[in-house]
Amino acid sequence: MKTILVNSIESMLEIRQQLNGKIGFVPTMGFLHEGHLSLISEANKVSDITIVSIYVNPTQFGINEDLSEYPRDIKHDIELLSKLKVDYVFFPNDKQMYPADYKTWVNVEKITQILCGKSRPTHFRGVTTIVTKLINILDPEFMFMGEKDFQQLTILKQMLQDLNFHTKIVGCPIIRENDGLALSSRNKYISSVGRGKALCLHNSLLLAQKLFDDGIYSTNKIIAQMTDLIDSNGGIIDYIEVFDPDTLEHIPKVASGCRIAIAVVIENTRLIDNIQIK
Ligand code: AMP
Repeated sequence: MKTILVNSIESMLEIRQQLNGKIGFVPTMGFLHEGHLSLISEANKVSDITIVSIYVNPTQFGINEDLSEYPRDIKHDIELLSKLKVDYVFFPNDKQMYPADYKTWVNVEKITQILCGKSRPTHFRGVTTIVTKLINILDPEFMFMGEKDFQQLTILKQMLQDLNFHTKIVGCPIIRENDGLALSSRNKYISSVGRGKALCLHNSLLLAQKLFDDGIYSTNKIIAQMTDLIDSNGGIIDYIEVFDPDTLEHIPKVASGCRIAIAVVIENTRLIDNIQIK
């Protein structure tokens, strides 16, 4: 089936009313890469209809963040999606999503204020609000999201449960470049020198796994060594945290199954990554 482009909420709601079958939804902010495409192929495996949204949601950007520079290439994105099994691309605009009299927010407490929420205090409120709006418009059976944004995934799981949404969230593995750098639309901001430095994110996570394999379980000791590696590559650490994947609570002793997540600034670009310790 040809990919159908839908640029208004009204049309999307009308189309949705006519759709039967399981809808798999992939929310994105566009500037698509293989990470996004992996979500679409997961969606295709279990859904009858795949819908991808492209919307750079302004409310999840803080006042000094990169909203105006955020990379956009809707033409290229649509070309890419038209070659895949994507039934609908939904790309509403700001005026429709947040009209002048907009007043409603969805907020998950506590777990939105730690990790990335410490330096981005309003970020997750923007995410939970836009995802609620998109789910209300599309009413999907499944929503596919990357473990790359692990905290986001956990917060949205909590929100879907707390608000009794029937949509099920499916977490998908992180897609990386051959050298380990996690794919991200923001990688575009980094120079080739910075690109080399950015490898310290994944390398520090691999170091954590190696230390664990060597019998070092103290979170503090592991974080100290990760810190040294990132410092020596010129990365500025926002946080390194070891936590329970379900509750996001700090874990003092690293154990199999826990997550380690990091946020590091490379050349003014804040990058995130994480791994599950095995
Ligand atoms: P974004 O366009 O950055 O908002 O991301 C849209 C979705 O793609 C989110 O669910 C992300 O977690 C996911 N995503 C982004 N980068 C990757 C990646 N490298 N691997 C897997 N999923 C990703």
